Amino acid sequence: MMDLKERDRKYVWHPFTPQRPQPEILPVKKAFDCTLVLEDGREVIDAISSWWVNLHGHGNKYIAEAAAKQARELEHVIFAGFTHEPAVQLAERLIGVLPGDQAKVFYSDNGSTATEVGMKMAFQYFWNKGEQHRRRIISFEGAYHGDTFGAMSVGDRGPFSQPFFPYLFDVDAIPYPESGKEYRTIEQFREVAERGDVAAFIYEPLVQGSGGMRMYSPKVLDELLSVAKEHGILCIADEVMTGFGRTGNLFASEYMEHKPDIMCLSKGLTGGTLALGVTTCVEKVYEAYLQEDIMKTFFHGHSFTANPIACAVANASLDMLLSLECQDSIQEIVKRHEVFAEKAQSFAFAKNIRQRGTILALEYDAGEQASYFNKSRNYLYESFLKKGILLRPLGNVVYILPPYVISEKELNAVYAAIEDVFNQ
Ligand SMILES: *Cc1c(COP(=O)(O)O)cnc(C)c1O
Repeated sequence: MMDLKERDRKYVWHPFTPQRPQPEILPVKKAFDCTLVLEDGREVIDAISSWWVNLHGHGNKYIAEAAAKQARELEHVIFAGFTHEPAVQLAERLIGVLPGDQAKVFYSDNGSTATEVGMKMAFQYFWNKGEQHRRRIISFEGAYHGDTFGAMSVGDRGPFSQPFFPYLFDVDAIPYPESGKEYRTIEQFREVAERGDVAAFIYEPLVQGSGGMRMYSPKVLDELLSVAKEHGILCIADEVMTGFGRTGNLFASEYMEHKPDIMCLSKGLTGGTLALGVTTCVEKVYEAYLQEDIMKTFFHGHSFTANPIACAVANASLDMLLSLECQDSIQEIVKRHEVFAEKAQSFAFAKNIRQRGTILALEYDAGEQASYFNKSRNYLYESFLKKGILLRPLGNVVYILPPYVISEKELNAVYAAIEDVFNQ
């Protein structure tokens, strides 16, 4: 009998994982709170919420109960022509807490589908209104909106999507609003917007996640949103990563005065337990689909659209997220990060230390260009793992994005590991 690692090696192909040299894959036996228990008994602190999804810790009992209860009652049903309590309840509650006046909830099953739906919804909005000339989309350089073709098209044209360049649609990629050079972004945005052929602007509000936890100011985003609205361009906030408390507010869009017309959610939506995606829109967008002409229908859906177990789990996660206890934990993390960010200024190899809410990032200054394939990346990843901490640097960018249940002791262990590595 082969052990788990060998069987994995024989049959499984892992995401975002170079296959040569043979990757080191760690079998996880179980997990609780912020702790991953490996098969060999080692314990690892999950400081990145298992790819930014987990909010309330692993093995959360309240979520497990909600999943089990729903699985016994109604595990799944076709969502065309049928509905169920968990999906309706979740939609009602999301509309209640989302910024601005989001009005309708469209379900899918991951972050990439949430953004695909957002873009299709926007394109067809103009098509339905007979404004077919509006077919362009504005995105930021360095953006990440998922790995499907539409999402790749509006994402950064970098090494990850290079084999697919010939298949991606053309977009108006404007410069990322780097601090001090915001005017460039605003000027170019205005120029493109004034052409009159733009349907939508898609953006990760305040933090570009996969692009390297790059953070920009609410002020510049507000200005871009205002220009977009002036020109009738739909604003699509991709809050797949920033949603559900990560930025210190429930949603990053709360930091701006101008609110999105379409919002994309996933990751933290179910507290990180099950796959679920949501795209919401304001009434104006939905109204363009309120027509007798069958050709004006939004013909989009997925087999597992609004899966009842996933929706029930999302409701359970929302219960916890909105509790005073969880809101306090979020603010605690924010404060602790602030103290650590200050301290990190003195680390020998640290630069560009930055924070937005519960997300803290700093760059390992090894004198190389920052990129995902940066040599420091593997060194950093391995160094933290050896110390029993899961941090998964993006190039030379090390970031902490913890579940909200992380204890003071665990957070201090993460800080200490970073201090150690950044001073060596
Ligand atoms: C992760 C992510 C996505 C894609 O979500 P998946 O569930 O991985 O497909 C889209 N947008 C942003 C901002 C993300 O961080």
